[in-house]
Amino acid sequence: MPFIKRGRWKEVSGQVNSGLARNMSEKISVKKRKKLNGTIIVTYRCNARCSMCNRYKAPSRPEEEIGIETIKKLPPMYFTNITGGEPFIRTDLKDIVRELYKLSDRIVISTNGFFTDRIVDIAKEFPQIGIRISIEGLEETNNEIRGLENGFQRGYETLKKLVEMGMKDVGFGMTVQDRNASDLVHLYKISDDMGMEFATASLHNSFYFVENRNIIHNRPMVAKNFEDLINELLKSNSPKKWFRAYFNHGLINYIYGQNRLLPCDMSFDTFFMDPYGDVMPCNGTKDKEVMGNLQKMSWDELWNSEAANEVRMRVRKCNRNCWMIGSASPAMHKYIWKPTIWVIKHKMKALLSKQPYSMYENRICCDYRDGRISKEELDECSTCEKNAMIRDGLSERSREDLVTGIRMEN
Ligand code: SF4
Ligand code: SF4
Repeated sequence: MPFIKRGRWKEVSGQVNSGLARNMSEKISVKKRKKLNGTIIVTYRCNARCSMCNRYKAPSRPEEEIGIETIKKLPPMYFTNITGGEPFIRTDLKDIVRELYKLSDRIVISTNGFFTDRIVDIAKEFPQIGIRISIEGLEETNNEIRGLENGFQRGYETLKKLVEMGMKDVGFGMTVQDRNASDLVHLYKISDDMGMEFATASLHNSFYFVENRNIIHNRPMVAKNFEDLINELLKSNSPKKWFRAYFNHGLINYIYGQNRLLPCDMSFDTFFMDPYGDVMPCNGTKDKEVMGNLQKMSWDELWNSEAANEVRMRVRKCNRNCWMIGSASPAMHKYIWKPTIWVIKHKMKALLSKQPYSMYENRICCDYRDGRISKEELDECSTCEKNAMIRDGLSERSREDLVTGIRMEN
């Protein structure tokens, strides 16, 4: 034991005792805490070059990215999504997952599927883990949007390997836009034949995507493809797919720039954490909204802080109307009666018709078709801002790298 001066002893033992007390009260409050839904962005580095996301141009510095010590401070969660950038760029991802399994009931990793060996390796150790591989269309479209040579083949091969290994929670993720909407139902059918999940999204703008010019141009065409997918999902015998149909109905509503179908409660029982340990309500805001930093604070301090409450007040007034699975899924669980009524109504229609759903159930689709609202007015309702400054949520040090051009490649 190092030598401590007599006068200092009282001070040190006081600090130890209060540290122990804090530790104990934290442990007690961990037991009492309600489980949350968390998304952990483990890195902003990415090997892809997607047309709808500039994150690859604004990577985080590896030495600034959160480590195991920060992961250990997270609260109990009923669901954790691990994402990036490309999360498998981190060679210590396995250690992160191992630590997260001590805190979370279910973990899903979102990836572009390129690092097959690393994905298979993690799946061997954690066969219960969920893997979602983003595939942005059939081969040519995917490779064009994703900017990865052989991206489709790599992603598809990875998925096949995981299925062959007997993994249950495996699936595709697709960001639907003008360029790939016509591939939507084809891709769903491929995933269905392989017994996989099929997750959809559409274009969003935010600091997270380092983008504010994303917009759907031909809304009726994209909505029609969503309508076809919704009808396929409603035809199935899987209640999970019927609720996915409701989520896709929400995407039609979103691309027409309408208010969300359900309230957004991000930051109340759901959070995102960025590679620097900054805890945020979501990834949909224009600039990064910070509730506190988990590298510098305990979870309880952060979650109950003044800054966190101020962010919650801003969330209550937020008018960005995102409809991404990270914010829509918790809302669908919380306000379950609304999607349930929708599902019952459409399943009953499915008994009488092959087309139980029509995009024209959304009044805005009729208004646009009948000329009561123009394309320009709908564009105004979106978050696309061609002349606004694009935010990236990077730390000063990571941004220095961009200026000096040290690390544009991974
Ligand atoms: S969408 Fe994902 S894979 Fe594509 S550049 Fe952005 S972070 Fe990378
Ligand atoms: S609508 Fe919700 S998820 Fe979207 S930016 Fe606002 S607070 Fe975030």
